[in-house]
Amino acid sequence: MSRSTGSMRRWSMAVAAAGALSQAGALHAQATAQKMDAEYTAQIKKYLSDPRISTELVDHLPASSTVPTPLKFLGHIVGAPGILDHAADIHRYLEAVSKAAPTRTRFWKIGKTEEGRDMVLLAIADEKTIASLDKYKGYLNQLTDPRKTTEAQARSLIKTAKPIYYITSGMHSPESGGPEMLMELAYRLTVEETPFIQNIRNNVITLITPVVEVDGREKYVDNHYFNEKWAKEHGVDSSAGGGRGGGPLSLMYWGKYVQHDNNRDGMGQFLALTRHTTKAFLEWTPTVLHDLHEAQTYLYSSTGTGPYNDALDPIVVDEWWMLAKNDVMEMTKRGVPGVWTYGFYDGWVPNYMFFIAHTHNAIGRFYEVQSYCSGACQNYVVKPGATTTSKEWFRPNPPLDSIMWSPRANTNIQESAILFSLSHMARNKDLYLENYWLKNKRAVEKGTTKPGTVAAWIIPANQHAKQNAAEAVNELKTQGLEFYTATSAFKAGNVQVNPGDYIIRGDQPYRTLADMYFSLQNFSPANPSPYDDTGWTFPLMRNITVTEVTDKSIFKAPMTMVPMAKTVVATGGIFGDGNTLIVENNSDNSLVTFRFKNAGVKMSATEEPTQAHGQTIGAGAIVIENANRAQLEPSLKSLGLVAHAVASAPSVKMHDLDIPRIGYIHSWTRTQDEGWVRAALDTYGVPYQYFGENAVAKMGDLRQKFDVILYPHGGSGVGNVGGGRGGRGGAGANDPVPYKSTKEFPSLGFPDSTDDVRGALGEGGMKSLYAFIQQGGTLITEGNTSAILPDMKLTPGVTVEPATALFARGTILRNVISDAKSPLMYGYTQTDIPVYFSQAPVLNAGGGAAAIADNSAAGGGRGGRGGAQTQNTTPMASPLKLSPWDPNKTGMPFGYATSLGNDFNFVEPGQTASSGRGGRGGGGGFGGFGGPQGPVTVAGLNADPNSSTRVIMQFPEKAEDMLLSGTLERGELLSKRAGLVDEKIGNGHVVMFAFRPYWRWQSQGTYAIGFNAIMNWNDLDAGK
Ligand SMILES: [Zn+2]
Repeated sequence: MSRSTGSMRRWSMAVAAAGALSQAGALHAQATAQKMDAEYTAQIKKYLSDPRISTELVDHLPASSTVPTPLKFLGHIVGAPGILDHAADIHRYLEAVSKAAPTRTRFWKIGKTEEGRDMVLLAIADEKTIASLDKYKGYLNQLTDPRKTTEAQARSLIKTAKPIYYITSGMHSPESGGPEMLMELAYRLTVEETPFIQNIRNNVITLITPVVEVDGREKYVDNHYFNEKWAKEHGVDSSAGGGRGGGPLSLMYWGKYVQHDNNRDGMGQFLALTRHTTKAFLEWTPTVLHDLHEAQTYLYSSTGTGPYNDALDPIVVDEWWMLAKNDVMEMTKRGVPGVWTYGFYDGWVPNYMFFIAHTHNAIGRFYEVQSYCSGACQNYVVKPGATTTSKEWFRPNPPLDSIMWSPRANTNIQESAILFSLSHMARNKDLYLENYWLKNKRAVEKGTTKPGTVAAWIIPANQHAKQNAAEAVNELKTQGLEFYTATSAFKAGNVQVNPGDYIIRGDQPYRTLADMYFSLQNFSPANPSPYDDTGWTFPLMRNITVTEVTDKSIFKAPMTMVPMAKTVVATGGIFGDGNTLIVENNSDNSLVTFRFKNAGVKMSATEEPTQAHGQTIGAGAIVIENANRAQLEPSLKSLGLVAHAVASAPSVKMHDLDIPRIGYIHSWTRTQDEGWVRAALDTYGVPYQYFGENAVAKMGDLRQKFDVILYPHGGSGVGNVGGGRGGRGGAGANDPVPYKSTKEFPSLGFPDSTDDVRGALGEGGMKSLYAFIQQGGTLITEGNTSAILPDMKLTPGVTVEPATALFARGTILRNVISDAKSPLMYGYTQTDIPVYFSQAPVLNAGGGAAAIADNSAAGGGRGGRGGAQTQNTTPMASPLKLSPWDPNKTGMPFGYATSLGNDFNFVEPGQTASSGRGGRGGGGGFGGFGGPQGPVTVAGLNADPNSSTRVIMQFPEKAEDMLLSGTLERGELLSKRAGLVDEKIGNGHVVMFAFRPYWRWQSQGTYAIGFNAIMNWNDLDAGK
């Protein structure tokens, strides 16, 4: 059947279904007693671009004599074209609803953003429930904890408790319809008197946080109206433009730190929005956390293609499918096309915000809705390709070949679907509450009764980087994981536990979080292309020691609980007497804080191991002569650092730790990734001056201003990206495009501002930057910026290899320290370090690596799936062989017990990983690597003849030794390739990370390498 015939058939079916709407409506008859808001209802009809995108639930709005509608309060209905509301107005509206309907709602603030704005929450239920809201909260809290709640109590609670359905939106700022829709949903749930809505109100407690990324929403709305105004003033057609609203200005920043990565912070929990949502979640223990997005055609209701996360209770997978299929079915019944599931996202990595629900045994899910705003937030035509409109098993009623979409269509489709979800939850509340109880119970039982599973995890308090370990404890504790400390020494199985060691008991319901974070990942390349990271194992990313205990006797061992509100710190301070301090460097990240907090104190670093109090103190220790003990001791204690007071400075070679003046270059075309580097610098107290790439050429002599310059991933180099964002022609094409806070657009201009966002580093900027290095400055690059100088042939000892057949997506690989004497390695005593690496750049440095043919013959190719093929329904039956991680040579590689407890697939010793599979689909925009830079040379800019290459870390020689957790294929393309290079150019250095040392607040184990580069910036040749 040809495409056109197919679409004709579907068109006529859809029209027929639309005609049957009155039938479906009869199923949920409107209560005739309630008066409709005639004006609002008329505008719904007027603004809806296609009648098929509607249901009987949203084609009207009931009137209320007390509660204001959005039209009355804001002057427009939800889904009116060209309208976007600031978060402040959305919050004001929900507060007004709450004031007008105090018996059915409750409104409160849940925290402040980085820029000082409020995050809010509105609860909606029937009068009796709202009157006893805390009692209902308590019921769910009780169902969370089988240690305190008996089976009999739980059975009774399942009948009396009410599920909490927590809806969030506005996470991704340009995905703007969810926050608008939630105003109307709040009104409807509060005032409508149909049996359908009453049933929801009586049986479900709905929580709404309409805007999660409040800072980003305000910038987005200002940005939209800025562009509209600009387009008007410059006579540009606002529907054609590059930026939203027709003007030239992109949304430069969302929150203070990152853009769409803001929903990848569920594990890291760095951003205020994640922390506040987690706190609200832990207090209310919702049954569902449902996050609303806009990145797919019509409406995708999440399940995912798999593979699903190993540590998910299998019940969750069924819950995902039941909820998603209910959405698909109810919308399909009403003839609404294009509501589907399965074919997007995978379900693997737990870094999403909605995974907060899964780490706590609840249900996390999301929608991806057809965008509310395209260009001018007006109606627009959606014409997807055949791969989106074909009828597939997961898409029985697919999107149409063409439709006129509109903001109101966006409102209607997601408001209807979420009402069907709420109704499903109301009608099946006992089922979901029982499942919730069961999941909590099974988590506890996993630790106590299931043989071979982890009974407890031990984090030794006195391990090498003990303050990094303490910080890990604190961060896990804010996510609800309970910690104990051993009160005396004991043995559990083969594991020696010492007093003060941290214990995570495996008989707590939230052990699921530890199972999910601590396990090893084995992502078979036979799967569909991964949606995001494939490996994340927490102890590896933080390079801390965590020991698995399977012996159940540990539950009777002497231990005491660490209060949830207590922040733990490693035992630090000054030991011994004497005027000279030797501060240990154990790769604790707080060491850099100590240096900058005491910037006025003269400090040096040892270049070799030294002795103090009968102990060997590794190289990189900080020596302070004539130390002011009273000044420094509180600082050392609070930072968990140990100093030895001795009579005189050690006689080993030392160099001064000169405080550098730090510059920080960001791109104006991609501010997405560099925020994670700023997160680390800000948190650990490293000051810097922050400026755009296009400012560099105008800054004159960089060396006069700076000693160190950071240029993180996302930078565009000389590039071909000048001229601002997107194409724009016509009048005003040559006018500057400011990004500044004004009275009219106050949210713009943060965290950086400029008179003109156009342009990149440019040739002038690149020449300046190169001169800065030659004159003795230190440039630090990571990820794609590490490829910029090699691509320009300015680093004779380093070349970038394309390695197109390599498959290493967001994975944890072993790096071997190849130059342990470099100051970059101060504090690291292991021979190997786990690093986060994703595909590129592959750096061949120092001539140490043999050439490898980068062809796809051996691996079956990573290109398209061309040709005939069968669907692989068991990709996880083909696990990869992981390389064991056992840096302390204990004979017990980390992660096996945790992973086996999650029914993990291992390749046993002696076996080989299976192979034999077809090619793969493309990577789809992950990781943000652009193609090669445009011009790779700049006239007049040549490599300094005085260059030399020092490879500090590299990938192992053998591919089988590389993969610690995640995925890897064609690893031989990384054989002995550099992970970290120190390239000497003239009098200065370029420190080039091929891996990502500051990845999403998860890779704390490699932060100190970058901090070493900053602290030892003018002595990097030490140990050569
Ligand atoms: Zn999104």
